[in-house]
Amino acid sequence: LVSKLPDVGTSIFTVMTQLATECGAINLAQGFPDYDPPQALTEALARHARISGHQQYAPMPGLLRLRELISQKTAQVYKVPAPDPGTEITITSGATEALYAVLAAVVRPGDEVLVLEPAYDLYGPAIRLQGGTPVYVPLRSTDFRPDWDQVAAALSPRTRLVMLNTPHNPTGAVLTAEDLGQLAALLRDTATLVLSDEVYEHMVYDEQAHHSVLQQPELAERAFVLSSFGKTYHATGWKVGYCIAPPALTAELRRVHQFLTFSVSTPTQHALADVLADVAHYQALPAFYQHKRDLFAELMRATRFELLPAPGAYFQLARYNQLSAEDDFTFARRLAREAGVAVVPVSAFYHHGQSEGLIRFCFAKRDETLVAAAERLQRL
Ligand code: PMP
Ligand code: GLN
Repeated sequence: LVSKLPDVGTSIFTVMTQLATECGAINLAQGFPDYDPPQALTEALARHARISGHQQYAPMPGLLRLRELISQKTAQVYKVPAPDPGTEITITSGATEALYAVLAAVVRPGDEVLVLEPAYDLYGPAIRLQGGTPVYVPLRSTDFRPDWDQVAAALSPRTRLVMLNTPHNPTGAVLTAEDLGQLAALLRDTATLVLSDEVYEHMVYDEQAHHSVLQQPELAERAFVLSSFGKTYHATGWKVGYCIAPPALTAELRRVHQFLTFSVSTPTQHALADVLADVAHYQALPAFYQHKRDLFAELMRATRFELLPAPGAYFQLARYNQLSAEDDFTFARRLAREAGVAVVPVSAFYHHGQSEGLIRFCFAKRDETLVAAAERLQRL
């Protein structure tokens, strides 16, 4: 068999988590919490797991009750017209399925898809599997925000889609309202669509706000906006996410979704619907995670790592040049084996794997986990 992705190995998250298990390292590599979802949510799941009729296929676009609640939440949080649950919201198997289904629905062989780099690892391979060409534009090395002149230069009549990710994995960078305005101006009078990956929408710190593409009307009318309950409810293993898009785009997304997974696990959708109206949960997330970010930064002051600003998401980038001149993959492997802390080398987020001398820590961990990891790193 000739591979369709000959240059792609196993995802770095799997590799680093396996390595962490092998050497008993604290896993600050793969992005997942080491604490549980809210008890109300797990109890709701247990309840729905016992209800006859909740164990069979959910409706193809998702449970209507859950889509209605997402619509209300979106209108409340972003002060935008409520998306129509019938025609504009689709429940997906995590944001991962939504990403794949959007790309499969809109990218044709020969189409270009603009990707800002570093980028989440699945974007490039998923574009290529559709016959598309990822066109990579580097984020600014100072603050990992887009240089809109470079984006303008990279756009062409063949650009089918621009992919955004805010708050950003792995850098934590957060787009501003002005950024979104700049992109809207660049795309005016084009047929280019937007995919906005906003899975970390509730993780923005220092009194800043997440600016959703849904709040930029010119972009919203051409955008697929994704979120993930895995992030918002500390339940990455549940794999439930959703996509909000105008009716014509949603119709195309559903054409693919119906043949990709058909529908998403029923009892989990019921459980999420039971808790989604509780605004206190997601309103508390910025303070909850900012505490973790700040605790980790404070602990890391006693190490020789240099931390970069971390305005959003649950990731902290660090330079290690005072500790080692190795490339980041080599350094990350050695850190897991010798220091007992697993991290992600940031080169994994670049298509050419260029060494940036940067590693990524995930701080979505219990305070005691962060303390234990920092103690190990302080010895280096
Ligand atoms: N996009 C980004 C930027 C992510 O970090 C993740 C989570 N790893 C996903 C998409 C996938 O989300 P899910 O786990 O809901 O499939
Ligand atoms: N999004 C998570 C991260 O960036 C991991 C997701 C995965 O393991 N596929 O670490």
